[in-house]
Amino acid sequence: MSESSPIGSAKIARVRGTRLVKTYGLTAALRGIDVELRPGLTLIEGPNGSGKTTLLRVIGTMLRPTSGSVDYEPLGSDATEVRRAIGWVSHEPLAYGDLSGRANIALAAALLGLHPERAWESVEQRFELGRFAERPVRTMSRGQRQRIALARALLHAPSLVLLDEPTTGLDQAGVASLLAVVRQELDRQALVVVVTHQPALFEGLSPRRVALERGRMVS
Ligand code: ADP
Ligand code: MG
Repeated sequence: MSESSPIGSAKIARVRGTRLVKTYGLTAALRGIDVELRPGLTLIEGPNGSGKTTLLRVIGTMLRPTSGSVDYEPLGSDATEVRRAIGWVSHEPLAYGDLSGRANIALAAALLGLHPERAWESVEQRFELGRFAERPVRTMSRGQRQRIALARALLHAPSLVLLDEPTTGLDQAGVASLLAVVRQELDRQALVVVVTHQPALFEGLSPRRVALERGRMVS
């Protein structure tokens, strides 16, 4: 492991969600999902409101299921340890808009226990973070924000990578570089889960598929 790897970060080899139910008041977003994730690409598909983001958030420990459980082999279910092994890019890439891209990355690195300057160097080339990364994130294009979000999420080489509709709003070049990043993550044996309305884009990466409809699995 390199010097800048977070101390004590362990790998997730497999994720097993069992009888996952999530209700928001009267809305049942997940109605009993059994899902197993292994190294490789898993696509989560389904119409708007079918529970895709909710499932991704439950898998990512951001949301506690109403019932059911998620086991992260070999780490178990301890959210603190599991979180260190997760990289997450939400639908709306979360960043501090008034800070520069570079400052956002440095902040994320510090929170992960990484050396900010070394962390920056490790992602600068890979994500083509040119001059634009010195500007406040709020001034960036969708594609530029996406690169900052990916750089931030993948800084610590997480073993479980969760991407919510990562191709939305990207042009062809943006999609191509996103696919290249996903391929690199797969090459290092990560478990990559992508929520998408454009499954055809990922066809070349031999995905497994989970199709949701009204909170249930239909595949
Ligand atoms: P998808 O990502 O497939 O569009 P979501 O997982 O976001 O679907 O939402 C599934 C269902 O749960 C929808 O009916 C949505 O309105 C509802 N929902 C999602 N988040 C919340 C929330 N925070 N509070 C109340 N209802 C929610
Ligand atoms: Mg969603």
